[in-house]
Amino acid sequence: MTATTQSTITFPYKRSLGPVLGAFMNGLAERRILGIRTGDAVMCPPLEWDPRTGAELARDFVEVGPGGTVQSWCWVGTPSEQHPLDRPFAFALIRLDGADTALVHAVDACSFDAMSTGMRVAPRWRAERRGHITDIEAFVPGDDPVGVDDDGDASREPVTMMDYRASITYTTPIPDNVIRTERATRTGRLLGLRCPSCGRTYTGGKGYCPVDSIALTADHEVDLPQRGVLTNYTVITPVQYPGQTETEPFARVHVLLDDSDVILSFQDLLDLPPGEIRIGMRLEAVWADDAAGQPAVGGSTVQGLAGWRPTGEPDVDDRDLVNRIC
Ligand SMILES: [Zn+2]
Repeated sequence: MTATTQSTITFPYKRSLGPVLGAFMNGLAERRILGIRTGDAVMCPPLEWDPRTGAELARDFVEVGPGGTVQSWCWVGTPSEQHPLDRPFAFALIRLDGADTALVHAVDACSFDAMSTGMRVAPRWRAERRGHITDIEAFVPGDDPVGVDDDGDASREPVTMMDYRASITYTTPIPDNVIRTERATRTGRLLGLRCPSCGRTYTGGKGYCPVDSIALTADHEVDLPQRGVLTNYTVITPVQYPGQTETEPFARVHVLLDDSDVILSFQDLLDLPPGEIRIGMRLEAVWADDAAGQPAVGGSTVQGLAGWRPTGEPDVDDRDLVNRIC
């Protein structure tokens, strides 16, 4: 079985609700579902503009539901973390009583067989509502709303903004070369793979020589020197976006390993302020205390390597070093 690693990227967003969706969301906090009139029709969820003419609508709200009819649905048999319910459910287009358009929401029907087009549903309200579409936890089969007994929070401020997260989770296979490379770093070895055809050496457990299309295996492993020379660098002034942990300017350096053509790019530089960095400095590898605890990575990043620090040896004087970054 191939080893894999799972990654998740999450993007937090914030948006303003405006006068129409704002009214709709604040209505939900009061267990009222609002539609908006457009001509003879009522749209729920309400829109600010008439979708046929593009004209701005008068804010003529009308309460609809709470019961409605399922117009169409699909079954979600394996809910993800992002789904509204943690057990199988249906996403449905629900036309609420009094509305002419349909609302997308979850139906907690317990089983696929309990779902049908044309079935009647009613909302199950959350006890704690905050002016969000999830104030309706889900719709349930039947005509009777659930959760209508509590009083809610009368002192609640009206919501004007909405936070939400877009997220993607993906799985990446970990090749054998990467696994062996990572094992080597746990014992303080820096492993490379040397192409038998062109002689180039690659780090990070690369599976093929991209020049010769030759598969690289355990037979091509070489131990790399753990000293080198700084060829180029970048000083990064951190912008304080969500999730940023750096607060002070820091450097990433490119290191050409001794007696080789291997350059490790974007490495951490330790024990030296960014203002004192010089091209040509001699550097040595510093291993993390607990290399085994580091996350799995590939490419030019070396697992378990804390960074590089100056050796104190005289600088290398070579004007071409600056061009060697990969
Ligand atoms: Zn090659």
